[in-house]
Amino acid sequence: MEKKKSVFVIVGASGSGKSTVLNRLMDIHPSKFGYSISHTTRKPRGEEKDGIHYHFITLEQFEKDEKDGKFLETATVHGNRYGTSFEAINHVISENKICVLDLNIDGALSVKKTDYNSLMILVKPPSFEVLEKRLRDRGTETEDLIQIRLETARKEDGLFQKHKDIFDYTLINDDLDKAVAELEKFVKDFFNF
Ligand code: 5GP
Repeated sequence: MEKKKSVFVIVGASGSGKSTVLNRLMDIHPSKFGYSISHTTRKPRGEEKDGIHYHFITLEQFEKDEKDGKFLETATVHGNRYGTSFEAINHVISENKICVLDLNIDGALSVKKTDYNSLMILVKPPSFEVLEKRLRDRGTETEDLIQIRLETARKEDGLFQKHKDIFDYTLINDDLDKAVAELEKFVKDFFNF
């Protein structure tokens, strides 16, 4: 029987430091992980590159791909569409790497319903005050966008509470080094390396 495919799903509010923790973990084990590159209709931010951080596509293309059944899951976040393609996951798995999916809560719930064997980690900031400071310090967004993201984070927090049972672990990102070490331990145990 074919072994169930395993994926590593990481969820967190923007500004929770999720990407920093994840990138640090991937840097420590460069050959172990592969990032599933999502498709999105949002515009690139800062240094983001097409085909590396996301596949940046038009809404028209997104809707066509969705209709053609190319996505395992899709979600709308801050008014933009996001989707994980089967191709993105299979590409990573074909390289014998642990497939990392950076998703919102809807995406995590969708993956949970599939037959992928998943490690689900939720990353949280220590408080809303810290989250707000991180969003401002990042300096990549306008005030309006910061307010939208904070509002989304508040709503998401309610959803995280509601669906807390789907997560294997909640990582509070207070001290970065500690958070990375905690995450590393969890991932090593789950994926056995
Ligand atoms: P950002 O625009 O800040 O890169 O991402 C916004 C949110 O969308 C984040 O919570 C991120 O995890 C989530 N996200 C990114 N790609 C996908 C995807 O393919 N599917 C889902 N469900 N969420 C995604």
